[in-house]
Amino acid sequence: MNKNEIIEILKLKDADDIYKKADKIRRESCGNFVHLRGLVEFSNFCKRNCIYCGINSKNKNVKRYRLSEKEILNALQRADKLGFKTIVLQGGEDDYFNINRMCKIIENVKSLGFALTLSLGEKTKEEYKAYKDSGADRYLLRIETTDEKLYQKLHPGADFKNRLKCIYELKNLGYETGTGIMTGLPGQSIESIANDILFFKKVEADMIGIGPFISHKDTPLKDFPCGTFELALKVTALTRIILPDINIPATTAMETLLKNGRKIALKSGANVVMPNITPKTCAKKYSIYPNKQGINALDTSSLNLLKEEIASIGDRISEDFGTSLHYKK
Ligand code: SAM
Repeated sequence: MNKNEIIEILKLKDADDIYKKADKIRRESCGNFVHLRGLVEFSNFCKRNCIYCGINSKNKNVKRYRLSEKEILNALQRADKLGFKTIVLQGGEDDYFNINRMCKIIENVKSLGFALTLSLGEKTKEEYKAYKDSGADRYLLRIETTDEKLYQKLHPGADFKNRLKCIYELKNLGYETGTGIMTGLPGQSIESIANDILFFKKVEADMIGIGPFISHKDTPLKDFPCGTFELALKVTALTRIILPDINIPATTAMETLLKNGRKIALKSGANVVMPNITPKTCAKKYSIYPNKQGINALDTSSLNLLKEEIASIGDRISEDFGTSLHYKK
């Protein structure tokens, strides 16, 4: 699909055929499985100032927290009991978690037999290498937008070229590498989203996370409208069509924008769900946007509901690590 074809689809009012096509491709390429990843949001301290994000350093209304080693361990033990095979450790850019602290946490997660995804933002090559040497398997670093000018406006003090460099460093270090974007950002054009999708292919991503921008009252973007569910869904479906065998989460932001959003995304190309296993009081404080769904610490009954939802669309929860098929081949 070339850029013009992508743009035409992004402009469609009714994209049902595209959703059906993406669903068919996902089932042919990845099977009728949904991979679960247990998400631990272990720190909401952040030194960055992304103007869309509720935990940016300038927001004084956030109660900041860091999970202790014990709290992380408790979350992991619960994840293990629930049968999770993969953990995602996500946090703001928090220098308290220096190389030594981070590597110790990584070793603990790996000693319990999980596959581990990190999502810690921009780090030095040495840090990425140390995490990899300690056992981390995967890394998620959304490019957010490939429109460099827009990127610079949204991220004061940050450097688009560095973010790009980080993504390539992660790939070169052998991580299963995930990237992605927000859709419906103020100032983002349909053309730039088409470029983003082509970028996913160029970078040969193993995972792509797509979420609508959701406006947060304590950020400079508070007066801008949220992105639409439909646009995020079209980008999800197009990404599946262009990259048939990658992992694509049905993101929390999609469920936040629309009840059943997760299920709709799973029927339109997505094949991963990331239930939040952060202790409930802290998950509330990880308020990157308002009304974040799925922040109740997961228990057996909510997992059963999720299983039912997944069964209702003809899928099962996968029992393996959900390793990128690029690495399995
Ligand atoms: N610090 C890490 C990083 O920069 O990749 C990980 C944490 S960051 C909070 C995780 C993701 O949250 C970002 O990649 C961004 O796309 C998403 N996010 C932040 N604020 C958002 C908002 N207002 N609406 C939708 N997504 C948002």
